[in-house]
Amino acid sequence: MARTIDLEHLVAGARRGEPRSVGRLITLVEDGSPMLRELMTALSGQRSRSHIVGLTGSPGVGKSTTTSALVRAYRAEGRRVGVLAVDPSSPFSGGALLGDRIRMQEHATDPDVYIRSMASRGHLGGLASATPQAVRVLESAGCDPVLVETVGVGQSEVEVASEADTTVVLLAPGMGDGIQAAKAGILEVGDVFVVNKADRDGADQTARELRHMISLGISGKDTAAWRPPVLKVVASRGEGIDTLREALDEHRAWLESSGAGALRRRQRARTEIQGIALATLQARFGALGSGGTLEALAADVAEGRTDAFTAADRIVAAVSD
Ligand code: GDP
Repeated sequence: MARTIDLEHLVAGARRGEPRSVGRLITLVEDGSPMLRELMTALSGQRSRSHIVGLTGSPGVGKSTTTSALVRAYRAEGRRVGVLAVDPSSPFSGGALLGDRIRMQEHATDPDVYIRSMASRGHLGGLASATPQAVRVLESAGCDPVLVETVGVGQSEVEVASEADTTVVLLAPGMGDGIQAAKAGILEVGDVFVVNKADRDGADQTARELRHMISLGISGKDTAAWRPPVLKVVASRGEGIDTLREALDEHRAWLESSGAGALRRRQRARTEIQGIALATLQARFGALGSGGTLEALAADVAEGRTDAFTAADRIVAAVSD
């Protein structure tokens, strides 16, 4: 089995932190390779320890600039960093996403920074389940933290954000982001809020509005609850990045001490299992359709030989066999 040896080789290479092996393993994830199952088994031995930080917000708000500044801060501490950029709204944009990201260029030659954009070419369960698997590859290579940057506003963004230990929501003054955030449900998923471009007018007002909106959602009695800080940052000048860096550590410490971290990890696992299971069933269902089973049953129902419930039961039985 040359394939198995190859995979073992790649996994060993990734564990040694070889960028080429890491890159090839993430490609396997992205492509939904048949070897994915084997790869995940090989990586499943150890419990996740890396801090997974999600960064999300509208295009142009400064995610890339902030991510790059954070990478610099972590590197100054000697930590190996993984960056994953995912675009849930257009799963096929792939390479274009980060390939031309000038703001990441300063880290391009640093062997302890892995930067990768992700699409979900044919991945079973789509990008939502590809992301935690790619994160696992980066963790196996010793990346801590893994920064996951998501693009686009909407439900899919919220879903991807929920895959992080700590979710940073970025806004900028004058973009009407506060209201947008409330609409998109992003207020609920944010653990740390960043008002970026604080060098521009209106940053104080945006921060004030945001604090107010957040306070409405927090019960005064629950002292154990995390109170999401609202931080003003000028990412392009690196201002406020140290404070953001500290907030990330504080949130991580809170996750561990409150038990919320374990709950989140379990919730993520649940979502991932569901995604894979449903996608597997859906693939089998599709195969039944092309195999004619669905067609035959449709004819039976249309001709009154059976009813749709009985037909559906047969399909479900065949799919779960
Ligand atoms: P993304 O699309 O959210 O990743 O945003 P980018 O990081 O690509 O930034 C979008 C634009 O905003 C770029 O031209 C940045 O140089 C600029 N930018 C980023 N941070 C700041 C900031 O703190 N202040 C100002 N004035 N511009 C910034």
